[in-house]
Amino acid sequence: MEKSYQYAQQQDLQDSLAHFRQQFHIPTHNGQPCIYFCGNSLGLQPKTAKEAILIELEDWANLGVEGHFKGRNAWLHYHKNLTATTAELVGAKPHEVVVMNNLTVNLHLLLVSFYNPTPQRYKILMEGGAFPSDQYAAESQVKFHSFQPEDAIVELHPRTGETTLRTEDIEAKIAELGSSLALVLFGGVNYYTGQVFEMQRLTKKGHEVGAKVGFDLAHATGNIRLHLHEWETDFAVWCTYKYLNSGAGGTSGVFIHEKYAQDNSLPRFAGWWGHNEKERFLMKKGFQPSYGAEGWQLSNAQILPMAVHKASLDIFKAAGIANLRAKSEKLTAFAVFLIEELNKEQKNIQIRILTPAQPAARGCQLSLVFNKNGKQIHQQLTDKGIVADWREPDVIRIAPVPLYNTFVEVWRFYEVLREL
Ligand SMILES: *Cc1c(COP(=O)(O)O)cnc(C)c1O
Repeated sequence: MEKSYQYAQQQDLQDSLAHFRQQFHIPTHNGQPCIYFCGNSLGLQPKTAKEAILIELEDWANLGVEGHFKGRNAWLHYHKNLTATTAELVGAKPHEVVVMNNLTVNLHLLLVSFYNPTPQRYKILMEGGAFPSDQYAAESQVKFHSFQPEDAIVELHPRTGETTLRTEDIEAKIAELGSSLALVLFGGVNYYTGQVFEMQRLTKKGHEVGAKVGFDLAHATGNIRLHLHEWETDFAVWCTYKYLNSGAGGTSGVFIHEKYAQDNSLPRFAGWWGHNEKERFLMKKGFQPSYGAEGWQLSNAQILPMAVHKASLDIFKAAGIANLRAKSEKLTAFAVFLIEELNKEQKNIQIRILTPAQPAARGCQLSLVFNKNGKQIHQQLTDKGIVADWREPDVIRIAPVPLYNTFVEVWRFYEVLREL
């Protein structure tokens, strides 16, 4: 790597994914395109999203209820249009995934199925400082089963002086909790530090002590490679508006391992869309779940958010998640390199990177802590058209995203920081 504009420009010229940037609307600041490093929070809008919604609105206008069968994308089975690419993104078999609802809703639904505490085995192990919604979901589920959150939820924090968790420490905690552990519930990528957890190892260890293992992949899907089937993860949930660019409050996805595809012993909250498809419209008593993840659906498909999601997934399919990850590793490594150079160039402002240094242990995101004036610097970046986000108490998160960010933008970020 080289510390030069020419180097960054050369990397963009050699980038076989560079043209995908044209498929997104890039927000502007004072008439110039922003440097949008916030795809970890809300991904940018694919230009095809509007047309995708218009198609469904037109079919609704022209066909009314007939749109369920005669629409260009018949609504009756709309969610199935999303299955193949979704399965590929998370490393699942098609019947292990379904797109439905919203993230926290899905987390609750799957906790109903996979957190079944007994007086002996009732604890949930989570990463300390998990995303608040996940904390609230776990806390309320524990109470729902008449346990005390302070007793039942075990949060693991990094060692003193360290910012991220060591896998061996998580494994040791799982072993220690042993037969009291009902569930390991972790993020795939921690939203605050950007740390990628070693999901395969955590799954294996959780299963060794007889616990279930589930992941919230809000910051992982569309960002890093996932192999949920092979890892034998019990369940996972994710949203689609972060790296998956499917619009604020968009739909969500779930993974339920094949081993539960026909497991009717698991408790679940049922709805008609999860009922055996062939008999769904017989309107009979007695719930019979569909095979696989589809059996967890409750309601008929949310066509408008799913239309946007489909437009976005089509771009992922064309680009290929392996190619995206390869570019992402280079782009984020370039940002790390320039930040370290900046630290060497001057001593006044020092930037500490909370995110792990090994490429496999991070995705796009870097979490930066400034030794002083962090909040002011964030404001100054915003004034210069760099969209990054601020997370209390002291972190600026930047996420160069391989679908629409460039090496020159990373260079420009460095230049702006240097000027500041
Ligand atoms: C973004 C995010 C959420 C948000 O939940 P919604 O139900 O989509 O509002 C929850 N958990 C994690 C880990 C997240 O990163």
